[in-house]
Amino acid sequence: MEKWDGNEGTSAFHMPEWMIQFADQKQEFNKRPTKIGRRSLSRSISQSSTDSYSSAASYTDSSDDETSPRDKQQKNSKGSSDFCVKNIKQAEFGRREIEIAEQEMPALMALRKRAQGEKPLAGAKIVGCTHITAQTAVLMETLGALGAQCRWAACNIYSTLNEVAAALAESGFPVFSWKGESEDDFWWCIDRCVNVEGWQPNMILDDGGDLTHWIYKKYPNMFKKIKGIVEESVTGVHRLYQLSKAGKLCVPAMNVNDSVTKQKFDNLYCCRESILDGLKRTTDMMFGGKQVVVCGYGEVGKGCCAALKAMGSIVYVTEIDPICALQACMDGFRLVKLNEVIRQVDIVITCTGNKNVVTREHLDRMKNSCIVCNMGHSNTEIDVASLRTPELTWERVRSQVDHVIWPDGKRIVLLAEGRLLNLSCSTVPTFVLSITATTQALALIELYNAPEGRYKQDVYLLPKKMDEYVASLHLPTFDAHLTELTDEQAKYLGLNKNGPFKPNYYRY
Ligand code: NAD
Repeated sequence: MEKWDGNEGTSAFHMPEWMIQFADQKQEFNKRPTKIGRRSLSRSISQSSTDSYSSAASYTDSSDDETSPRDKQQKNSKGSSDFCVKNIKQAEFGRREIEIAEQEMPALMALRKRAQGEKPLAGAKIVGCTHITAQTAVLMETLGALGAQCRWAACNIYSTLNEVAAALAESGFPVFSWKGESEDDFWWCIDRCVNVEGWQPNMILDDGGDLTHWIYKKYPNMFKKIKGIVEESVTGVHRLYQLSKAGKLCVPAMNVNDSVTKQKFDNLYCCRESILDGLKRTTDMMFGGKQVVVCGYGEVGKGCCAALKAMGSIVYVTEIDPICALQACMDGFRLVKLNEVIRQVDIVITCTGNKNVVTREHLDRMKNSCIVCNMGHSNTEIDVASLRTPELTWERVRSQVDHVIWPDGKRIVLLAEGRLLNLSCSTVPTFVLSITATTQALALIELYNAPEGRYKQDVYLLPKKMDEYVASLHLPTFDAHLTELTDEQAKYLGLNKNGPFKPNYYRY
């Protein structure tokens, strides 16, 4: 058996036989710049606190209960009041949501089984700030099963599933979050997680950087005991790199956002599934035979194109990069300029990460009932501001669906006001979140167990072996049988039989 930290005889966590020696991982923790985020530490709540991933969809929201959870006296069945949620009585319903999520999070469940008897996170005191959803609950309960104590707040003021927060509070997790927090509530909840008598965190799990920022600002001394930060979002990771560059990062940090498996699942597979979901929920449209133009043929564009093609749509692609353009051609899509098809298409989807890809001129030329939406960057890809002029009438026809009407009666259907369609109008598959959550759990275990000196005060990527391990833990779901290299083959390829199987520069 290999040991978790790669130091024989000292580690708490055994990896499976086929799993990878961690002894040589040091040189694999290469550092790499992340995509450019656009916020500094001197902001109010982060972008992810109002606009980020979650598969939250609450069915039990008692909107008639206007009392702020901060003003309520609540206790769980064991008499603890160390939490603040909307309504502890919703716990049973939340428990069912968590059980459903467990079915699609096989790797975390496998980690729990594997940890029986061993507690790689024994003594870990993790303070977390992520979406509070059924999937996060599965992660938290896994961390608990691995020996950690956790205190949690939400990274997003809208995404908390109240019943799930209640279920977690009922099973003893100090959770401070509810759907529809004010900005003041948001920081109050974070503070309740860290400002506790007799308890000090030694690990941070953050999504967006708000928690890290709060500790830096209010309790900088806490970092003396903190062994590491695990950060999931683009924005949060960017801030960590900024801190590191300025020499102000005082503990090691793990960039989970840029791990290979997470990137693939977030961008390609998630968008392949959620583009249809988002369009269907908002418009009830049929895709067969519809003409669609997808702007950008990167990971997100490829996912969208594949899904629409499979539904029988006629798909056009626009690209600026000849390599991606050639890929689109090879995959059977017509490569066009947006101008060439803008009059005839039924749907326009942007996936470029760029700005003003769809301009007012394009919008003027679209045909009646054309659907316009964005799967790419925040809200910059479609020039929505150009539609806010006196001659155009806006009609809200459904939640997240606007008709914008021209003086001659032509209307276009604008979804989510140009913000990310799948984020605003559909859910993210649990399996996608399972990949992220497993990566987070492994990163926490690694940072917590790492021997002195393995990590410096810098930002690290997960080693490829761990990415491979995350993927392998998800394979049994499909009854997938992985081929093992023979000794002869391993020698021929110059590989260790247990991986890593690809160099760091490999593009999957
Ligand atoms: P990518 O870089 O792989 O792909 C973007 C593509 O757009 C590139 O090939 C680029 O050449 C092309 N492009 C740039 N400007 C263009 C223009 N004016 N016209 C046509 N093509 C143009 O990036 P990606 O991973 O596909 O992500 C794209 C965007 O989607 C990013 O902003 C990313 O943050 C976002 N994203 C969204 C989701 C989601 O769930 N909706 C998930 C992951 C990422």
